[in-house]
Amino acid sequence: MKIHNFSAGPAILPQYVLEASAAAVQDFANSGLSILEMSHRSKEIVAVMEEAEKLVKELLHLGDDYAVLFLTGGASSQFYMVPMNLLNEGEKGCYIDTGAWSAKAIKEVSNFGQVEALASSKETTYNYIPKDWTLPSDAKYLHITSNNTIYGTQYHDMPNPDCMLIADMSSEIFSRNFDATQFDLIYAGAQKNLGPAGTTLVIVKKEILGKVQRTVPTMLDYQTHIKKASAFNTPPVYPIYVCLLTLRWLQAKGGVAAMEAINKQKAALLYDEIDRNPIFKGTAAVEDRSMMNVTFVANNKAHEAAFMEYCTANGISGIKGHRSVGGFRASIYNAMPQESVAFLVELMQNFKPE
Ligand SMILES: *Cc1c(COP(=O)(O)O)cnc(C)c1O
Repeated sequence: MKIHNFSAGPAILPQYVLEASAAAVQDFANSGLSILEMSHRSKEIVAVMEEAEKLVKELLHLGDDYAVLFLTGGASSQFYMVPMNLLNEGEKGCYIDTGAWSAKAIKEVSNFGQVEALASSKETTYNYIPKDWTLPSDAKYLHITSNNTIYGTQYHDMPNPDCMLIADMSSEIFSRNFDATQFDLIYAGAQKNLGPAGTTLVIVKKEILGKVQRTVPTMLDYQTHIKKASAFNTPPVYPIYVCLLTLRWLQAKGGVAAMEAINKQKAALLYDEIDRNPIFKGTAAVEDRSMMNVTFVANNKAHEAAFMEYCTANGISGIKGHRSVGGFRASIYNAMPQESVAFLVELMQNFKPE
């Protein structure tokens, strides 16, 4: 039976990426060596790092005023690296609290400077993106979580504040067109929409760095990794290579704009069924619905276990909603084929609760 992987992360990767990464474990670039046993200083691996950086910039139309880094520690380490590298004591980082990941980011800031949450949708289980807030004049940066993996909400209009703009794009990077030059720093754990767990993509405008007075530990200083092209220490070579394969696949598909067109169709297919089918209802505010993580519940809670069972019996994997939202979450990242979304819709149509 074919398994359709709707997991929120680690998540589905393109078939091409799985095959090419498996081959590289046997023999990488005709070197006679496995990629797992090669020096990160070898010319083959240096070429991987360079191409990955180049493709990220090409896909997002970024120039050399930005640095592209592949770090470790997950997106969660960026929650503290951002304020540590950007805020002097007493300076203020502003956040929009749109979910558990935003809240975790907010929690780290007071170790380094001041923090202000300008708005929060926590009271309604983060089912919408707050848009009614004012930026204080002393804001050093504004941080948003552009796609909220757990709740299925997404910014459709990015804010454009009079300060630095920072985004956690873990579960949506490369899924849609946006003006990356409006952002000063973007980060994304690879394991949602880019590659396997083990590396975090960081895109940073170089001019914002080097302005804090505190001593930043070497490994936590973005400038360390910029100077050494993400190889100050041994980088997670294999996860980065898998990301590179995804980036090549993305480019061959026509890049981010082409991806967005397909992602829009996939999301519309699923949301149309959720809205049409009397058994189900969506949990996110319609205007803020995510193209990547589609959250829905059964109108009658008693039907949820039966639908879950029906899905499992038909090869649908990873569709259980996060415990804070319940119900179902279909993550339909870039690598998710349209046919799999259509198959899920068909199951929703054929599902007959007792
Ligand atoms: C998964 C996720 C994270 C956490 O990523 P780690 O790499 O596990 O630290 C952070 N932010 C968002 C939006 C996520 O979806």
